Amino acid sequence: MDFEFDLENRIVDPQDIPGDSDLENPLRPRSLAEYIGQEKAKENLSVFIEAAKLRRESLDHVLLYGPPGLGKTTLAGIIANELHVNLRITSGPAIEKPGDLAALLTNLNPGDVLFIDEIHRLSRSVEEILYPAMEDFAIDIITGKGQMAASYHLPLPRFTLVGATTRAGQLSAPLRDRFGVVLRLEMYTPEELARIVTRSAAILEIPVEQEGALEVASRSRGTPRIANRLLKRVRDFAQVMSDGVITYETAKVALDRLEIDELGLDGNDRRILETMIRYYNGGPVGLETLAAAIGEEAVTIEDVYEPYLMQIGFLSRTPRGRCATHAAYLHLGLQPPGAAPSAQQTLF
Ligand code: ADP
Repeated sequence: MDFEFDLENRIVDPQDIPGDSDLENPLRPRSLAEYIGQEKAKENLSVFIEAAKLRRESLDHVLLYGPPGLGKTTLAGIIANELHVNLRITSGPAIEKPGDLAALLTNLNPGDVLFIDEIHRLSRSVEEILYPAMEDFAIDIITGKGQMAASYHLPLPRFTLVGATTRAGQLSAPLRDRFGVVLRLEMYTPEELARIVTRSAAILEIPVEQEGALEVASRSRGTPRIANRLLKRVRDFAQVMSDGVITYETAKVALDRLEIDELGLDGNDRRILETMIRYYNGGPVGLETLAAAIGEEAVTIEDVYEPYLMQIGFLSRTPRGRCATHAAYLHLGLQPPGAAPSAQQTLF
């Protein structure tokens, strides 16, 4: 197929890409008060944090789940800040052996927050060390083999595990059950994202008008990480094209030039929908088949593209496969099946 998927440089990729962190570090909110949106999660968390502080106990383990770029890592940092403890950051794939996890756990100070990103990717043997660590704050280590084998029971300081995952469904039941607090992060509304854009612009000293911020926000597919990235790109256009101020006009022209449409879809999203419509009559088409057709990995489609396409009602998951909705046809300027043909119908 003649489609080219340029994931590496995808400007609307919700996952962290190199070059983001230098921009993002100063933009990461440090307290719950600075953290915009996610009101329900924030309200619950602030109660649990206050209660833990009053009782001088460690906070219960917290599981955060939701698509990439919504602020899970940021929230883990905030939890540590609010509790005045250290934050240790690692990820499921980085912990290869039980010994790696044991080393991390035994180095924690009382009350510390251990953040494990992509926790659904922990191996079974590592998970088994985590169960007693979470429940009893202890681990059992076996060294040597045969007659030389010895077992040590190591008590750990009380700590708080903050786990993050894009897929709560993939977490094993015993692991999920050990989290006392489970919070689902939602995609942000354009108004919330506009507040994030305005805040980030102030930190980066970028002049932005309210309508300009809203235009950037409404094309950021509900994701703060993308909003911050688009802000940076639009600033480039605003500086070259005009006086550097991000107005509605400069934002619109810049985002059009970046081929991000008014709903935040880029070429790759449109090609996924077009493939479904053109080659599979709009679906249902199985995830693996679709992945093969566009030369992309199934997990990437599931984690990166689908959440937003489903959120805006362009794609539905059915037991028989993925379907493009009527709204998707209309957005691409195509005639949905079953609708009366219109004069301006343009079917490829
Ligand atoms: P995740 O861990 O879910 O992939 P991050 O916590 O790394 O996402 O968030 C990505 C970036 O988005 C952060 O660096 C931060 O600048 C910004 N961000 C996320 N959530 C918020 C928020 N609620 N308010 C302001 N900025 C946010």
